[in-house]
Amino acid sequence: MHANYHTHTVRCRHASGTEREYIETAIANGLTVLGFSDHTPQPYKGDYYPAHQKMYPYELEDYVTTILDLKKEYASEIRILLGLEVEYYPGLFDELMRMIEPYPVEYLLLGQHALYDGGPDDPFVFIPTDSEVYLKQYVSQCLEALDTGRFLYFAHPDVFHFTGSKSLYKEEMRRLCLRAKALGVPLEINLLGLGDHRHYPNPLFWEIAAETGNDAVLGSDAHFPQHVYRRDTVFLAVKMAQDLGLKIIPELL
Ligand SMILES: [Zn+2]
Ligand SMILES: [Zn+2]
Repeated sequence: MHANYHTHTVRCRHASGTEREYIETAIANGLTVLGFSDHTPQPYKGDYYPAHQKMYPYELEDYVTTILDLKKEYASEIRILLGLEVEYYPGLFDELMRMIEPYPVEYLLLGQHALYDGGPDDPFVFIPTDSEVYLKQYVSQCLEALDTGRFLYFAHPDVFHFTGSKSLYKEEMRRLCLRAKALGVPLEINLLGLGDHRHYPNPLFWEIAAETGNDAVLGSDAHFPQHVYRRDTVFLAVKMAQDLGLKIIPELL
């Protein structure tokens, strides 16, 4: 693994360390590409704002200038990229695109953490559920997101925590994998989930992705500098991909 496109900053309020520490860790571990993709600021309906999940709109300017300054400073040692991890909320997506349009953002990752428009009453995808309605909504919403053509790759596509019917899960995730393949969007094996023993990467999901022939990409999803590169976790992910016959794309940008 010499490129990682999934890196956070303190602005999301659940990450720590300075950008410089993330970069130094990447260099020390032989990475040649480090993309920052902090949780995008997000317009919401009304006064709601989940401040512990993402930066505020007023912080975007500082995020952009900080990363661009570091990109210049470290140009001879590592390629720094400016990205954002974005939710697809159908009623708010156009406004979000208008918000980030003035900035030279080099790529977007799709990272879907909630359903519908991500409001206070909308379900969060980490919470275990056997709701078939929510599962289908997750997949439909992600397909709509992929169809926009705005995403470099799909981060933790298997984050939806479904505890219900296996056959329905397979059917729905096959729908998702087929569309990602048709559109040429790689799927991320999330190293944060793997290293922290979360419910994702979900082996069943990756069996389907392997059958479908999706391309995979490794993403650190680093919220701490030392998580930019976790050797043991990368080893496990590579082994998982090899065992399943999944192809890992080493570099996308
Ligand atoms: Zn996060
Ligand atoms: Zn992330």
